[in-house]
Amino acid sequence: IITLAVETSCDETSVAVVKNGREVLSNIISSQVEVHKKFGGVVPEVASRKHVEAINMIVQKALDESNITFEDIDVVGVTYGPGLVGALLVGLSTAKALAFANDIPVVGVNHIEGHISANYIEHKDLEPPFVCLVVSGGHTHLVYVKDYGDYEVLGKTRDDAAGEAFDKVARALKLGYPGGPIIDKLAKEGNEEAIDFPRAYLEDGSYDFSFSGLKSAVLNYLNSKKQKNEDIVVEDVAASFQQAVIEVLVEKTIQAAKDKGVKIVTLAGGVAANEGLRNLMRKRCKEEGIQIKYPSKILCTDNAAMIGCAAYYDYIKGYRADLTLNAVPNLKLGEKRY
Ligand code: ATP
Ligand code: MG
Ligand code: FE
Repeated sequence: IITLAVETSCDETSVAVVKNGREVLSNIISSQVEVHKKFGGVVPEVASRKHVEAINMIVQKALDESNITFEDIDVVGVTYGPGLVGALLVGLSTAKALAFANDIPVVGVNHIEGHISANYIEHKDLEPPFVCLVVSGGHTHLVYVKDYGDYEVLGKTRDDAAGEAFDKVARALKLGYPGGPIIDKLAKEGNEEAIDFPRAYLEDGSYDFSFSGLKSAVLNYLNSKKQKNEDIVVEDVAASFQQAVIEVLVEKTIQAAKDKGVKIVTLAGGVAANEGLRNLMRKRCKEEGIQIKYPSKILCTDNAAMIGCAAYYDYIKGYRADLTLNAVPNLKLGEKRY
């Protein structure tokens, strides 16, 4: 089964060709990051326009690189949510037009399910059940993956997403955008015990997360240093902040794996690229006798190959959308809107 996949939920225009769900024949990713950098974040209207400009060329590149023509394609998979509505609509219109013109079925893919599925591409023998920590720019979910397409969300953030916290703290430190990779790099040079930022474990047994208190603590720390005219060691702030985030992420994930009795933990989403998180999760999983898996960095952040993988598993289950498939900006994990 050959899937052509389209992803435009945020600021990456991406098209991929994927064989049998796990073999990537091409995965073209065009990032708009340079455009949004000067605004310090993604500007939705600009994102939509840039997708329109890029999408046809990206489709062509994905086909060229995979040596595949439309005759070979069995299904078109497209992200229909969650994401920015205008951005999603560009991918949806493209996918539906291609499907209609070539008489190929369409399946709508949940972007978060795509992030989780990136693990299937990276690890060819990975199968559910496992626990997945989804940490991206807009989401922080602790998910029990019971089977393909069968998810139990154990907990989620009550305020900021993990990636959002990284980006906001980076912004306060005037480090640039997106902040996650920059903080990750600086943290390696800093002392994670330099500043005692709060860890929000919430109520006993809760799998929810909260990062806005930590973000405020960092802002307060920076303000008070400025007021006292004291020097700020950016590397120490980065390392201490990052440690406060990842300790909570790791401990809750390990606890979830134990509670569910699963022996595999996976990471997904842009923040899964974080080296501090990967290292601490590896260490703690080893201590607990749990396997840890995560995608390579390029499959952690937004890409269409992960959408092609999720689309494949929906397709073989019999899911088919039609040309009324619409964008659902707040689509929940495990929810189908077609
Ligand atoms: P969502 O998937 O929730 O809709 P998104 O698609 O914008 O949001 P992703 O592409 O999954 O998010 O990830 C982008 C986020 O990952 C940004 O917040 C970025 O700062 C963060 N990120 C990327 N690399 C790293 C890293 N090495 N360390 C920490 N954060 C990182
Ligand atoms: Mg992005
Ligand atoms: Fe994403």
